[in-house]
Amino acid sequence: MIPPTLATIYAFVFGLCVGSFLNVCVARWPRELSVIRPRSRCPHCGHQLAWFENIPLLSWIALRARCRCCEEPISAIYPALELLVGVLWAVSVHHYGMTFTALRLGLFLTLLLGVAITDLQHYLIPDGFTITGLIVMLAGALIAPFVGESEIFAGPFDALVGACAGAGLIAIVGWLGEAALGREAMGMGDLTLMAFVGAALGPARAIATVFVGATIGAVAFLAIVYPIAMLRRGRAATQTELPLGAGQQPLRLPLVPFGVFLAPAAAVMLIWGDRLLGRVFFTPY
Ligand SMILES: [Zn+2]
Repeated sequence: MIPPTLATIYAFVFGLCVGSFLNVCVARWPRELSVIRPRSRCPHCGHQLAWFENIPLLSWIALRARCRCCEEPISAIYPALELLVGVLWAVSVHHYGMTFTALRLGLFLTLLLGVAITDLQHYLIPDGFTITGLIVMLAGALIAPFVGESEIFAGPFDALVGACAGAGLIAIVGWLGEAALGREAMGMGDLTLMAFVGAALGPARAIATVFVGATIGAVAFLAIVYPIAMLRRGRAATQTELPLGAGQQPLRLPLVPFGVFLAPAAAVMLIWGDRLLGRVFFTPY
């Protein structure tokens, strides 16, 4: 039996390596590039990284955040993401021990993080995250009973129903949103994301995730994105000396990256969803 502190340290180091791979996925999947080949290069000079320049966190510190070849700065986002994933895995193992639940939780949170980052950066959710997530979560639900664990994650039947409920609700919300806004409101990425999330959470918590995520997303849209778009239009109109009323240029509203809001909502629902839903409906799910 490994002492708990040592297990947490192992999980942290393992998480750092997972975070390093997540950096590769986040950079390459949106551009439809392979995450296996070629090996990592410096984005400035193309210098291929040696193994010692590719050690999570440590290399960035040892190289003093500069490429060894061209001396261009290396973004702090890379080690920050590695550190964050390391902490997530350490917390999972600290809480659930070296268990199958901790492994599933670590994977779930890592994949959600990848989804949130790519949706924020590129307005897209790569299938690489969501299909991997769906398969891993369904397989996890099937294996868990044999390992004797059923903490926080949905059982096999609920996982299947949850995947359908999550994707189905996104389809309905997207359809109603499109009718109201006259343009696409939810992307295919949101739908595949909620199939993955539903397979982990089961139907009740998946539906709650969509409501929480969509509400936060809509509020953020109305409070931040919409006013900025209005301001920009106002400025553009004054620059071209057009009266604001007539001959107005169309209001260009950016898309809402709902995955950015759905991903944290899913993490909250996995861990506290039962308690939250139990309080609302008085019947613990
Ligand atoms: Zn370089």
